[in-house]
Amino acid sequence: MGGPKNNPAQADVLVIGGGPAGMFAAAAAVMSGAKVTLLEKNDRLGRKMSITGGGRGNLTNTASLHDFINNVPGNGSFLFSALTRFSSADCRKFFKNLGVPTKEEECGRVFPVRERAGEVVDTLAEYLAASGVQVIYQVRAAGLLLANRRCQGIITGGRRVFSGKTVVIATGGASYPQTGSTGDGYLLASQAGHQVAPRHPGLVPLCLAEQHLCRHLQGLSITDASLTLATAAGKTIAAERGDVLFTHFGISGPAALRLSRAVAQKTAAAGAGGLRLLMDVLPDISEENLAASLLSMAAEQPRKAVINIIKQILPGRLAAACAKMLQGSEHQKSGETSKGAWREAARLFKNLPFTVTGTRPLAEAMITIGGVSVREIDPRTMASHLVDGLYFAGEVIDVDAHTGGYNMQVAFSTGWSAGLAAAEEAGFPAAAIPR
Ligand SMILES: Cc1cc2nc3c(=O)[nH]c(=O)nc-3n(C[C@H](O)[C@H](O)[C@H](O)COP(=O)(O)OP(=O)(O)OC[C@H]3O[C@@H](n4cnc5c(N)ncnc54)[C@H](O)[C@@H]3O)c2cc1C
Repeated sequence: MGGPKNNPAQADVLVIGGGPAGMFAAAAAVMSGAKVTLLEKNDRLGRKMSITGGGRGNLTNTASLHDFINNVPGNGSFLFSALTRFSSADCRKFFKNLGVPTKEEECGRVFPVRERAGEVVDTLAEYLAASGVQVIYQVRAAGLLLANRRCQGIITGGRRVFSGKTVVIATGGASYPQTGSTGDGYLLASQAGHQVAPRHPGLVPLCLAEQHLCRHLQGLSITDASLTLATAAGKTIAAERGDVLFTHFGISGPAALRLSRAVAQKTAAAGAGGLRLLMDVLPDISEENLAASLLSMAAEQPRKAVINIIKQILPGRLAAACAKMLQGSEHQKSGETSKGAWREAARLFKNLPFTVTGTRPLAEAMITIGGVSVREIDPRTMASHLVDGLYFAGEVIDVDAHTGGYNMQVAFSTGWSAGLAAAEEAGFPAAAIPR
């Protein structure tokens, strides 16, 4: 731990990027006994990690391996080995050993007990320094040093050379560029001949054409709605269920964020033109039963205005908006409203129609969909199939997961696998996971 300093420009393992993937790659490699240099272009590590989970740090998820992979819609099966080698349980033990106990919340989400992501980053930074990892700040890797199908280091924008027997690219995706993830890793990977799958915004709010309505409903949160994305012809593309939040431009919240993957891909392929969104704001009751309930409420309260009946089952502002969409007057007495009109109301509440115009931009997305193709990376070691001595870890790889701590664990697990394998190739056999 923390012996005399080596020349950081000549490492056994050179890690590019100090996010969760790079920090875990560095940790695994130094634990194996390798001399490790970590280059970070910011003046501190883990800027994006510090804002995860609303600053509380949603570090991982306790889902079983099978369920975990089901929560990774983008190339989930690629992760089988990495998640087996370094699981979410290993991750929690690792943090516990560092003095960062974790707790589980709903849907298996794991947070540090003290709920401060920034503190976790600081602890990791201290751990890396104490372990002897040389962290060099404000250095941006601009190109790979390649010779005879082997990666031997990197060159910075200022023409400074850092050599490594092996190199791990952990530069993240291209979302939230203010955190340092500006997509540099895609250029480095391309330089080595790697295919990079097109990038789209992931886990990002949706924009809707109904601007006036959205502004009216802005800030309204619907607990548990069902969203169905369909083509103009009505063919279902994807469906999600969960909380939805109206914003001035459209919708956000877990269900909308999950649906954004399908929207981004459809939009990239054919433009958003004609994408329809149906929102079921009462997903636990069938349309038939809802119509029957409305009819019996109207029969019991015949003098009440239609709007006041609707307000008994929908939140106020949404009730008013829905009442306006129905034919006839919202102020009409419910007893004077036809059975057909109540059935129409039930159909509307189960199928509120919107038109999707696209997603918010990549800069506002939580993650990047796309990246370095998994077909050219060894899933057991994260090693490049094309160039010796080159490894990838974290969001730079074409893997993307749902919200819930899955993306962080992907970074930890792929970082750990890459760090161990990079150290081994550099002459330092694999370390055991500290338990
Ligand atoms: C607002 C927000 C909230 C999120 N919340 C969650 C959550 O609750 N749970 C969850 O699982 N995930 C969450 N994520 C996603 C998660 O933060 C990322 O998936 C994860 O940080 C990816 O880790 P990474 O190490 O691959 O990349 P990053 O964290 O992006 O780190 C990459 C690092 O590389 C550095 N770098 C880039 N290029 C270079 C270069 N050329 N030279 C040197 N350094 C370079 C960057 O400065 C950066 O420090 C959230 C993301 C955002 C934006």
